[in-house]
Amino acid sequence: MESRTKHTYRTLLSELAKDVLVECPNCARQALVNTNGETVYRADKIKVRVVCGHCGYNKDLERIWVRNKQFILGEAIDPFFHLPLWLKIELGDHLLWAYNYEHLRFIEEHIAAKLRERNGFEHHKSRSIGARLPRWMTAAKRREEMLRAIEKLKAK
Ligand SMILES: [Zn+2]
Repeated sequence: MESRTKHTYRTLLSELAKDVLVECPNCARQALVNTNGETVYRADKIKVRVVCGHCGYNKDLERIWVRNKQFILGEAIDPFFHLPLWLKIELGDHLLWAYNYEHLRFIEEHIAAKLRERNGFEHHKSRSIGARLPRWMTAAKRREEMLRAIEKLKAK
C-alpha cells in the first residue's frame, strides 16, 4: 500500500516537473527552468534553459546531460540543473515543496478536499485523489497547517 502510494506520487511528480521555479544560483532570487511546458520525459526533444529575470543569469541544459538522462525527481531541487526549488517551506520534520504554482495548487486542492471530506462532503471524490499525496501531507492534524504554509508560499 505504502509503496503503491509512493509510486503514484512519483508518476504525478514527473507530470508536474516542467517550467520549474528555482533559486537563481547567481542572485538567489526567483528564476525559471523553462521547459516550454514539456516534462522530463521529453527533455531530449526540447531546449531546457534556466533564466533569471532579476540578474539576467541564464544557462542551457547541455545535450550530453540529456543523453545520459541525469534528471532527479522527488527531491526539493529541479530535475534538470539540480538547483534548489523556489517553492519550499519547512513543516515540522518535513519539507513541503512544489515545482511550480500548478503543483502547489494541486497539493492545496487535495488537502482542502480532505478537510471537506472530514465535514462530510465530497467523500468518494477526495478519497481517490487524496491517495495520490504522501501520507504526511494529508494527516488530519496537519491539514490546516499545510494550507497556511501554502498561502505563505504563494505570497513568496
Ligand atoms: Zn539571478
